[in-house]
Amino acid sequence: MTNAPAPQVSIVIPVYNESDGLQALFDRLYPALDALGRPYEIVFVDDGSRDDSLRRLRDQHQRRPDVTRVVVLNGNFGQHMAIFAGFERSRGQYVVTLDADLQNPPEEIARLLDCMDRGHDYVGTIRLQRQDTLFRRVASRAMNRVRERITRIRMTDQGCMLRAYDRRIIDTLNQSHEMNTFIPALAYLYARHPIEIEVRHEERAVGESKYSLFDLIRLNFDLMTGFSIVPLRVFSLLGMVLALLSGALVAVLLFRRLVIGSEAEGVFTLFAIAFCLIGVLLLGVGILGEYVGRIYQQVRDRPRYLVQAVLESEPAPSGGDARTAPPGPPA
Ligand code: UDP
Ligand code: MG
Repeated sequence: MTNAPAPQVSIVIPVYNESDGLQALFDRLYPALDALGRPYEIVFVDDGSRDDSLRRLRDQHQRRPDVTRVVVLNGNFGQHMAIFAGFERSRGQYVVTLDADLQNPPEEIARLLDCMDRGHDYVGTIRLQRQDTLFRRVASRAMNRVRERITRIRMTDQGCMLRAYDRRIIDTLNQSHEMNTFIPALAYLYARHPIEIEVRHEERAVGESKYSLFDLIRLNFDLMTGFSIVPLRVFSLLGMVLALLSGALVAVLLFRRLVIGSEAEGVFTLFAIAFCLIGVLLLGVGILGEYVGRIYQQVRDRPRYLVQAVLESEPAPSGGDARTAPPGPPA
């Protein structure tokens, strides 16, 4: 990408409307990284912030041009797409992702890198005393459990984004052109020696979570549909069982009618059963829709995100094409 020698460590940080917290992040992140004694770079990705996050990132780039790069996206493409954009511009042998809100203490990065030195190619994390709302903690535990059941991915704490990946995994991720995905899970598929360590977790210093309830549901559907088709299979099995049961019911009723005579009782029970089945049916159609919708997005093959500018001290790559996504017909 650039002619300068690649640093050992790249830190990739997605930033979306984090203006008030950025200075605190810089104040802790840079000293923590300087203390590592390893050559590093920080790739901030501005995910279409509407506050003055971008100005602060620019200022920081001016202050530390040697180690700071800023990828500016053209709009809000979501945390995972922003991280992908950062991955594509990262050069380090080890790549660490981190949230911009200081919920992941930058001082923990050293421990992740130690694990990488010991030969692991993926370091996952488990948040000790997670500092999020009760609802988030309970829902997340439930989703972790479902995901354990229906995918091959073994992660104790899927939500923590403080993670380290080896260059080989990053290069593989950069080849994937998935629109809706979940980076820690995708990386796990390619990891040979993954490990999990416990890290501290802090309360969001300023601002609010950028994830609404709807975003969280969508993200979990990304994880389910992206890594498993068990939900679809469950509905085929359920369909089979229900078909058998109702076949039996028809036989019983037919027999009854011939032997005892017709029956008109139990109408409400019948309604209850019918409504319950309609609910199951709608759920099944909905889940099918989640898959189909994602297939539709994928086959349109639009660029996943648009890079507006990259602030870096070295000259930009020649033939600079802002469209980072795979070349395809204009959507
Ligand atoms: N983020 C982003 N784009 C988005 C939403 C979030 O780049 O559309 C970034 C955000 O700035 C932060 C990280 O992703 O650095 C995690 O977001 P947040 O703290 O809101 O999520 P939570 O900790 O509540 O899961
Ligand atoms: Mg957060």
